[in-house]
Amino acid sequence: MYLYNSLSHKKELFVPNNPDQVKMYTCGPTVYHYAHIGNLRTYIMEDVLEKSLRYLGYPVKRVMNITDVGHLASDADTGEDKMVKGAKRENKTVLEIAKYYTDAFFADCDKLNIKRPDVVEPATNCIDEYIHMIQTLLEKGSAYQAGGNIYFDTSTLEKYYVFNDHDEEDLAVGVREGVEEDPNKKNKNDFVLWFTKSKFEDQALKWDSPWGVGYPGWHIECSCISMKHLGDDLDIHAGGIDNAFPHHTNEIAQSESYLGHKWCNYWFHVHHLNTDTGKMSKSKGEFLTVSLLERKGYDPMAYRLFCLQSHYRRNLVFSWENLDNAVAAYDKLVARIAALKQDGEVEQAAFQQLKARFVGALNGDLNTSVAVTALYDVLKAKCNDATKLALITDFEQVLSLNLIPAANALKQKQAEEEAANADPEIDALVAARTQAKKEKNFPEADRIRDELKLRGIEIIDTPQGTKWRKV
Ligand code: AMP
Ligand code: ZN
Repeated sequence: MYLYNSLSHKKELFVPNNPDQVKMYTCGPTVYHYAHIGNLRTYIMEDVLEKSLRYLGYPVKRVMNITDVGHLASDADTGEDKMVKGAKRENKTVLEIAKYYTDAFFADCDKLNIKRPDVVEPATNCIDEYIHMIQTLLEKGSAYQAGGNIYFDTSTLEKYYVFNDHDEEDLAVGVREGVEEDPNKKNKNDFVLWFTKSKFEDQALKWDSPWGVGYPGWHIECSCISMKHLGDDLDIHAGGIDNAFPHHTNEIAQSESYLGHKWCNYWFHVHHLNTDTGKMSKSKGEFLTVSLLERKGYDPMAYRLFCLQSHYRRNLVFSWENLDNAVAAYDKLVARIAALKQDGEVEQAAFQQLKARFVGALNGDLNTSVAVTALYDVLKAKCNDATKLALITDFEQVLSLNLIPAANALKQKQAEEEAANADPEIDALVAARTQAKKEKNFPEADRIRDELKLRGIEIIDTPQGTKWRKV
């Protein structure tokens, strides 16, 4: 498999450290509010990456954190803790907010067929690990104490901006609005590893530490949670593009200073979903969530297809019109699959040939839009329906679009409608018309059709025979 690696800025052949276990880490949600559908685009594409790796024969162990402390309003460690802000907004405790929005996040994931990672670890579970890593960084001279906080000293690094070919715009997104200079920092890019009470008196959750009562910075969470469950090396680290700087840049700085060697080989970044007016936001305008889509009558599977139709390294623009197009494409796919019959044995040669196109698309930097095209190729192919159904079932291990259950539900609905409309008298008239046509008695055939029309029945001639419906 070839994957674009943000570290080398190239597509690289993916070679895991140990082919018996691919170690994958994903930055999890900050559970202060619902995830918007932009956040969920990132989780959908990470889900596709994990499922593709498994489909291509790599056993994966995937770990994700839940950020329930330490993520401040600006990713550059300024402003209020997002969790505290969420709790104030809803008049609840931070723990209540964390529980509610963690559950809401996984409910959204279920609706979008996003598999739960093998390990999900809340940041508040790993305080001892953070303290240990920070202590080691202090001992090594990679961190310092100032104004009550512990900072990572970026001047100790050979290179800090490891992803430095990112657009200025992406870098700016990472820093976000409201950045104020912290006078305790020795260098502009230094970041907080541990905050103490000296900085935020109203922080809800605090723990004892060798440097006073306080709480961890956001970046340290991911390094420690990854190492806790995956050890000292990592194959793939994934996240949204805005996480590349400063979050992932800081994760690399502290992890590699702590370990004394390279930490993660491949960095996978999903680009943003934007609205036609710009960046997706949780604070302004219509807050786009999966529940909102459902309230407006959209099947979350149509949104998943919408995401799969474009490459993860392209910005994607959300509009209701674009989503409507995805709905039309999804409904058409389901209708075509519903028309397939189990008509015999799978034709092995055709199966392998069509599967190779799908595999090729995944191998080429997870090209899901080409993978979806490979699905259309299956529907158009000359092989029998049994082969097509077997291929669709196979592709669904990665696409997870509920295509087979949705097609079965449609067939069931069609059968129920037919049964509800059954009328032996009309059937007899339709059969008489068919017979008249066969005997080339066209005046009689037309007479019967007109009679049916008067009774509100429309005749539909299809390759499978004549059907009728009430109009
Ligand atoms: P957060 O809950 O804010 O930590 O974000 C969760 C994930 O969503 C992170 O991986 C972000 O990089 C990602 N993300 C944030 N905004 C967007 C967006 N508009 N489109 C795609 N991914 C996003
Ligand atoms: Zn992270």
